[in-house]
Amino acid sequence: MIYLDNAATTRTAPEVVEAMLPYFTEHYGNAGGIYRLGCESKRAVARARETIASTLMAEPGGIYFTSGGTESDNWAIKAVYEACCGKGGHIVTSRIEHHAVLRTCEYLERKGARVTYLDVDEDGIVSVEQLKKAICPDTVLISVMYANNEIGTIQPIREIGEIAAEHGILFHTDAVQAYGQIPIDVKDCHIDMLSASAHKFYGPKGAGFLYIGTGTKLGSFMHGGQQERGRRAGTENVAGIVGMAAAAERAYRTMEERAQKEARLRDYLIERIMREIPDAKLNGHAVKRLPGNVNVSFASVEGETVLIMLDMEGICASSGSACTSGAIDPSHVLRAIGLMPELARGSVRLTLGEENTKEEMDAVAEALARSVQKIREIAI
Ligand code: PLP
Repeated sequence: MIYLDNAATTRTAPEVVEAMLPYFTEHYGNAGGIYRLGCESKRAVARARETIASTLMAEPGGIYFTSGGTESDNWAIKAVYEACCGKGGHIVTSRIEHHAVLRTCEYLERKGARVTYLDVDEDGIVSVEQLKKAICPDTVLISVMYANNEIGTIQPIREIGEIAAEHGILFHTDAVQAYGQIPIDVKDCHIDMLSASAHKFYGPKGAGFLYIGTGTKLGSFMHGGQQERGRRAGTENVAGIVGMAAAAERAYRTMEERAQKEARLRDYLIERIMREIPDAKLNGHAVKRLPGNVNVSFASVEGETVLIMLDMEGICASSGSACTSGAIDPSHVLRAIGLMPELARGSVRLTLGEENTKEEMDAVAEALARSVQKIREIAI
């Protein structure tokens, strides 16, 4: 099998599983317990908070554990709106956000919020000029993703953060695809809230966090117990939290080497596809791009058909984001970068991970060329 769907999820690293195991079997105490067994869990959660905070240049008190990216996005956006809507309820986001952000904004629109969806250019970069123009006295939140899950484009986050700070507007970024892949400094980029998810960086599924900057007033999302300083109720997923911290530490320790290797293989694969397959188009920015992302469109083919043919050769890939695959409509991200629906439907996303090799890139380039040619021949 050749796995090229690392943006959908990654394999939990063996050392991450190793770090988690004792928290299922030996140290199974509730982190809220006052006895020794509980205290060990509580200490493990505190250590994890410190580890994760250090990867973001943040204070440990700013890390709130959640069930993943979707919950973190929902929490940040809904809670800001709720806290500020007395003062106005305008949110600025982009057209290419993940559905965890877009659907949340749409929900708030039904509750009376006003939302501006920023356009992006043909490479998928948010228009900073349009952002400046969109801001008005009742703007309470700017939410722009760090890097896109489909086309891998990395946004000018520091610039956006500076604009938000100048206007005294809270800034949230969905960093689910960026965290663990590229360096992030929340203070330098004026980020007030940041969402991340462990299963995107070789950690377990069902664990994530929301970073909330000091002084950012944000209400609870989950109501119940006093966990996470009363801001996120629910018995701590200790094993998941420990696994996420082990994965975060590992991701930032190995980042440079891993990113260089992935970017090299990515560019090699892109170059082979462009050279060997006629009428192929690379989607996303050529340079401001996640190291493992390849997104290409092929004229006169259906991306879904290519995926099935690749699967028959043991290759796992995706068309659009994992959460929308199976949908017939062309992806909202590809439409936002101006792709014609016909070309958008012929897109394939291949996302590399730490285990991929050059031999695999060769096999994938050849399998893709064969598949696209076969589909085009049948269509004639
Ligand atoms: N945001 C982005 C950019 C994503 O890519 C994803 C998952 O694909 C999510 C949010 C949702 O994260 P989770 O699967 O942890 O809920």
